[in-house]
Amino acid sequence: MTWLNLGAIVDATEAEGPGVRTAIWVQGCLKRCPSCCNPDFLKIKPANVVEVEQLKKRIESNKNNFDIEGITLLGGEPVLQAQGLSELARFAHSIDLSVMLFTGYKLKELDNSRFVAVDRLLRHVDVVVDGEFELHIVEPNRNWVGSTNQKFHYLTNRYDCSIESMAEVITNEWRISTKGQVSVNGLPFIVKA
Ligand code: SF4
Repeated sequence: MTWLNLGAIVDATEAEGPGVRTAIWVQGCLKRCPSCCNPDFLKIKPANVVEVEQLKKRIESNKNNFDIEGITLLGGEPVLQAQGLSELARFAHSIDLSVMLFTGYKLKELDNSRFVAVDRLLRHVDVVVDGEFELHIVEPNRNWVGSTNQKFHYLTNRYDCSIESMAEVITNEWRISTKGQVSVNGLPFIVKA
């Protein structure tokens, strides 16, 4: 049985990659980028520990209920949990969903990296956005990325660079729960005119 330690999950969002997607934030990151957008997800501690099998069912249900196009893996740092995420990503591909991965590491750092199962995860990822977030070089144009140093890498033919400038992309989503709790995802700032 494989488990994942998650910071958060949003079943259907349009602010974390092309189309409607299930976004999964893992808990824990070894980096400490100044102005990290997700400080609550940095500490390595048990947060929401869930079975991968349970997540697969949730993703399949999101496909049926929300017609999601894919899943997006964010953090925290997804490659720290590559083993569980590789199973999830493989499952997503098996039901024709795309997989997008945001990592604070450069893609070339992940080759032969010390992180277990990263190669297995990358086999089932369509797009990687890599690099640390740098507040002094905020990205003014491309969709979904926080800073200009971050790069898109297309590992399959599912997408190409046209998604980076796709029009009418939602940059932020706000949700208010029935208990009045407010949550937001997407970019922490609006940079487009
Ligand atoms: S890599 Fe991402 S999650 Fe980790 S500190 Fe940097 S911005 Fe935050």
